[in-house]
Amino acid sequence: SLHGSRGLCMAMERTYIMAKPDAVQRGLVSDIIGRFEKKGYKLVALKLVKPARSLLEEHYDSLKDKAFFPSLMDYMTSGPVVAMVWEGKNVVATGRTMLGATNPLESAPGTIRGDFSIEVGRNICHGSDSVENAEREIKLWFGEGTIDWSSHSQGWIYE
Ligand code: GDP
Ligand code: MG
Repeated sequence: SLHGSRGLCMAMERTYIMAKPDAVQRGLVSDIIGRFEKKGYKLVALKLVKPARSLLEEHYDSLKDKAFFPSLMDYMTSGPVVAMVWEGKNVVATGRTMLGATNPLESAPGTIRGDFSIEVGRNICHGSDSVENAEREIKLWFGEGTIDWSSHSQGWIYE
């Protein structure tokens, strides 16, 4: 609420969002950040990383038997990524909706992938697919933890 602390009682989720190497190369990092920032989610961690193959193998562990896994590793280790954690109500599922379908051929216009990408192997961004995976990915990418801060906008975003 504007004056009370009701918003603080609301169950807040956190999600791991990543601008992939093609987003960094193509200058799309600010567009990805901007969508989450303007939506009203709260940024609680952010860094530019050149991830080790071992980190990505762990991140994408569930896909290791897929035929595209080697090309996914080459793509993801090809340059720096921007790793971030966003916090807010329902941010995991809504974050996935904002990214759009995995394959940009099927991502709706208005979504990040739908607006800025064409191929599944160059789909510019990652977002956690469940609250459980979000917590796993946040631990994996941000061993140092996230930042606690109070947003002055809270009462203008949550009733
Ligand atoms: P996401 O959660 O929407 O990112 O999709 P997945 O977890 O299923 O796959 C992880 C990433 O692997 C995707 O974002 C794509 O970059 C890549 N990927 C998924 N499916 C394919 C595929 O069929 N071909 C290729 N080349 N890459 C794929
Ligand atoms: Mg996934």
